[in-house]
Amino acid sequence: MREVTASKSGWSVRNCVGQGSGREMKAAVLVHPKRITESPLELRELPAPVPGPGEVKLKVRACGVCRTDLHIVEGELPQVCPLVIPGHQIVGEIVAGDTARLPAGTRVGVSWIGGTDGTCTYCRRDQENLCDAPTFTGYGVQGGYAEYTIARSDFLFALPEGLEDLYAAPLLCAGIIGYRSLRVAGVEPGEDVGLFGFGASAHLVAPVLRAWGCRTFVSTRGESHRKLAVSLGADWVGSELEKPPVALDRAITFAPSGDVVVAALASLRKGGVVAINAIHLDRIPQFDYDKLLWGERQIRSVANMTRRDAREFLKLASEIKLRPRVTTLPLEDANKALATLKQDHIDGAAVIVP
Ligand SMILES: [Zn+2]
Ligand SMILES: [Zn+2]
Repeated sequence: MREVTASKSGWSVRNCVGQGSGREMKAAVLVHPKRITESPLELRELPAPVPGPGEVKLKVRACGVCRTDLHIVEGELPQVCPLVIPGHQIVGEIVAGDTARLPAGTRVGVSWIGGTDGTCTYCRRDQENLCDAPTFTGYGVQGGYAEYTIARSDFLFALPEGLEDLYAAPLLCAGIIGYRSLRVAGVEPGEDVGLFGFGASAHLVAPVLRAWGCRTFVSTRGESHRKLAVSLGADWVGSELEKPPVALDRAITFAPSGDVVVAALASLRKGGVVAINAIHLDRIPQFDYDKLLWGERQIRSVANMTRRDAREFLKLASEIKLRPRVTTLPLEDANKALATLKQDHIDGAAVIVP
């Protein structure tokens, strides 16, 4: 097995496409990052991957589509594998590498955090989301836009009983990172919380806020996103940069836009927090410190996730019977899924069924 560290990012790379042998499979492969309108993903027949020690081989049953996949295929995140199969919200069935604890046929989830070194300062501090040498599924290791994939056994998540594949997939990144955003923002029960942008992650956060007795204020572009927010019980819904009618305790931004971060900041009470749920932002525009940040307001980024976030969120999702709004597409339509996501034309979450 190849194990190298990408020099720029410190992110670890394993099992890039082209290794392994055996049964052929179909996969949507990124060769050269380019604009999504130029269809960067190619449908290819490849050798099925072979699990190494401590890994399982999964038959992919469903794979959620995430905005990070778009940043990868369009090259906004540096390419770390010569060929990469994106997709990091994988619901799969174990078909090889099974153990007594994880027998063949077990249905499991795989998320963006594909592995950590377990030894760096952050891992030892229980902050594995900040690991110095993480591997990310569908980026530094093969992802789920394929019929088969492999994953580390210790980074698999048990899926709640009765939660169907299509509903489970969007929970595995959009849901978990949305939940982490609430924690990073420090949301307490009963608070007033703003959601800026209302895509896959926000629409999974809204029911959690309801369950916690919070009031939810949604600012988002797109009439259909606003309708979805209303249908999920938002207390107020406005357009993209519109200011909620109350000073917010917390705000989460989901759009990859610095203007949205500043709009969220301008909506906070003193001592309030903005958590940025985006792996990439276009820029942070200049803003007035005296008016917007003074008064112990905070801006925080949300980086990756821990396995604890995943376990806590999946348990909560099961308890509150969280059911994402889902649009399904076949593997052949992976480019189309990402293009539609970019245009904000998907309500809720897109899921690829290979
Ligand atoms: Zn580490
Ligand atoms: Zn994601």
